[in-house]
Amino acid sequence: MPETVLTVDRVACAGHGLCYGAAPDLIDCDDQGDPIVPDHSLSSDELGPANEAVSMCPERALAVQTIPTAHKDQT
Ligand code: SF4
Repeated sequence: MPETVLTVDRVACAGHGLCYGAAPDLIDCDDQGDPIVPDHSLSSDELGPANEAVSMCPERALAVQTIPTAHKDQT
């Protein structure tokens, strides 16, 4: 069964925090101000906040991706 995950491109991320400001219950931040995204498959309740955070990111560093479970360790 495919999993839906929230990913962050660490190279593209500028660390200004709009994403965790938009979805504070879903995205945390570390001491450097970089986002910490969930390491689990998103629940249906988390999809809305995740997509909101993606839409807030001006660097296009966040993405909601659906991946086949068998391939999730290869991404
Ligand atoms: S909004 Fe985008 S660029 Fe800014 S901290 Fe979040 S992921 Fe990084």
